[in-house]
Amino acid sequence: MKIYYENDIDMEILADKKIAVIGYGSQGEAQARNMADSGLEVIVGLRRGGPSWKKAHDDGMNVMTVEDASREADIVHILIPDEIQETVFEQSIKPYLREGNTISFSHGYNIHYGYIRAPDGVNVTMVAPKGPGAMVRRTYLEGFGIPGLVAVEVDATGDALEQALAMAKACGLARAGVLETTFKEETETDLFGEQAVLCGGVTELINTAFRTLVRAGYQPEIAYFETCHELKLIVDLIYERGFQGMWHNVSNTAEFGGLTRRKRVITEETEEEMQKILEEIQNGKFAKEWTLENRAGAPMLKRMRALEGELEIEKVGSKLRKLCGLEK
Ligand code: NDP
Ligand code: MG
Repeated sequence: MKIYYENDIDMEILADKKIAVIGYGSQGEAQARNMADSGLEVIVGLRRGGPSWKKAHDDGMNVMTVEDASREADIVHILIPDEIQETVFEQSIKPYLREGNTISFSHGYNIHYGYIRAPDGVNVTMVAPKGPGAMVRRTYLEGFGIPGLVAVEVDATGDALEQALAMAKACGLARAGVLETTFKEETETDLFGEQAVLCGGVTELINTAFRTLVRAGYQPEIAYFETCHELKLIVDLIYERGFQGMWHNVSNTAEFGGLTRRKRVITEETEEEMQKILEEIQNGKFAKEWTLENRAGAPMLKRMRALEGELEIEKVGSKLRKLCGLEK
């Protein structure tokens, strides 16, 4: 697998290009500011009067409407929420694209599932940091960066990959390493990761263990520290040193107990279900479900959000995080 670092990438290719970053949220702010600080000509495209218009302006960015930014730019980097990209693209970006322009993304979703199709002669690329926007900006200011991915779906100009790599470098990603992927691979693995482990799997694992302890009569505060708070320390160890580094750092009792019990927590049935979750991502069933949900005004998401706020672990956790000074 080839990993690109700073010295492998020439940013000269973007010297005469204007980059419009559409959206100034988590990724938009971080990537727009990093690219501007790296010396690129960046404009920010937003809806007038929206909450981020003033913020981007106060940060010293050149802010204009999405339409004007798309008209002025050579590269339109689309960093608004995935579920609204199709509409904004059709109404405010596509009409202003010219042959030889590039549209780029930080997630392959809309291209991979066919919600967005670029006009002929327009490059389609991806520059995707592997972490939240706040990290993209903070590590850049610290002189480093987080790893990232680049991909090319359409190479109309013959240098689409070089453009994507140069943008990744300007965002600071090549300091940590940039890997090449495809829209399909990035989209499917990203969705699977967030559903099975990062967002879905981990919250259910924590909450199920928490409820088991509380049901058995243990104090909720103790249960919270044990099943949630300490997870961060363990994940940090795995992140820095791998499984074996973590096992080495916990007690022999924890190692023996963990190794003998873990298959009873994540069972064969769990693995079969993970396989099904992956298939729903691959065959488009998940994307269809999410599209329908959005068309209906996201009723299920709103209901689930409200229920999440009612969880006992959230109430106990919030209280404890305040006492520990983690939360205001
Ligand atoms: P955000 O939810 O943070 O984006 C919010 C921004 O989009 C705001 O500036 C908002 O402006 C703007 N916006 C919303 N609606 C519109 C509209 N109709 N017209 C113009 N601007 C609008 O998005 P993220 O940064 O989370 O995600 C952006 C992309 O990055 C997605 O493709 C996502 O998958 C990808 N990504 C995100 C990661 C993350 O950590 N969040 C990680 C890796 C990839 P306003 O103030 O006017 O509402
Ligand atoms: Mg992801």
